Amino acid sequence: MTVRAAAKVNLVLSVGGPHPDGMHPLDTVYQAISLYDDVRASPAEEWEVGVTPVGGVDCSGVPLDEGNLAVRAGQLLAAHHGLDRAARLDIDKGIPVAGGLAGGSADAAAALVALDRLWHLRTPDDDLLGLAARLGSDVPFALLGGTAHGGGNGEQVTPLADAGDHWWVVVPDEGGLSTPAVYREYDRLHPDAPTTPPASHALLAALADGDHAALAAALHNDLEGPAVSLRPELGERLALVRAHHEGAVLLSGSGPTVLALSSTHEGATQTRRALLEAGVPVVHVATGPVAGAHVVELVG
Ligand code: ATP
Repeated sequence: MTVRAAAKVNLVLSVGGPHPDGMHPLDTVYQAISLYDDVRASPAEEWEVGVTPVGGVDCSGVPLDEGNLAVRAGQLLAAHHGLDRAARLDIDKGIPVAGGLAGGSADAAAALVALDRLWHLRTPDDDLLGLAARLGSDVPFALLGGTAHGGGNGEQVTPLADAGDHWWVVVPDEGGLSTPAVYREYDRLHPDAPTTPPASHALLAALADGDHAALAAALHNDLEGPAVSLRPELGERLALVRAHHEGAVLLSGSGPTVLALSSTHEGATQTRRALLEAGVPVVHVATGPVAGAHVVELVG
C-alpha cells in the first residue's frame, strides 16, 4: 500500500503573538506542490521505518524510531480504533528535510491514509482530519492538498478554489532550520504582536480572480525576518534568487527553503537554469496546486 503526499508552501503566513500555551495563531494560505514523499505501509510485528532519499535529499535528520511523525500517526490511528498494532513504513523522500516544506507532516498524512487502508479501518474523513490536527498544525492540510486557508494554529483548514497553474522554483538550503527556534526569534523581534494575525484579504481576492500579478504582489511570510535574523546567509540567498528571477520571491514557511513564483513553466525553468549557473547546487521546479495524500499503488 503506497500513499503519496506533497510538500506545502505558504502563499501567505501571518503570525500572531503566542497564546499562553506557547502556540502561535496563524492566518495562512497553503498550497500543495509537486515535490513528493511516498510512504509504503506493510505488515510488521513492531514499528519499523526505512527512508530512501529521492533526488539527493539529505535524510540524515529523519528519525527511524518512534520520533518519526509517520510512526506517531500510525500509533494514534491504532489507538483511535482501540487496536494494538504496528507496521513497517518505508518512506521515499523527495521533500527536503527541515526545509519549511512540511515533509514530516506529509509523511504523517500519508501514513494515516496508508494504514487506514492496510488495516481495513474505513476511518471517516472527519476523524482522520481530527487525528491529523493532533499530530501537527500542517498535517490536516497534507491530507487535503490543493490550496486552502489555514486558521487556528494552521490546523483549521478550508479548501479554496484555485484555477491557477502556478510554477514554483524551489531552492533548498544545505542546512535545516528548527521551526521552534524561528518562532522564538519571531517572539523576540515582535514582543507586542497582536494575538489575532491580520486576514489575507488581498491574497484571497487574487486567488478568487485568478489574477497572477495580484497573487504575486500579495505573497507574504512573517517568518522571513526571524529566519534571516537567525541565519544571515539566508538573506544573501534570498537576494541571489531575487537577482535571477523576474517575479515574487519569498521564504517557505519557517525556512530555509527559498521560493520563486512564476506564471509559466518556461519562466520557472529559466530561473532554475540561471541559479544553477550562478552556483546554487540544487534547484527544483514544481507546480501547484496538486492533490493531498492519495493512494498510488495497491499491493496484494
Ligand atoms: P515543520 O513541519 O516543523 O515546519 P519542516 O517542514 O521545516 O518542519 P520537516 O522535514 O517536516 O521540516 O522536519 C522537521 C523535523 O522533524 C526533522 O528535522 C526531523 O527531526 C523531524 N521528523 C520527524 N519525522 C519526520 C519525517 N517523517 N520526515 C522528516 N522529518 C521528520
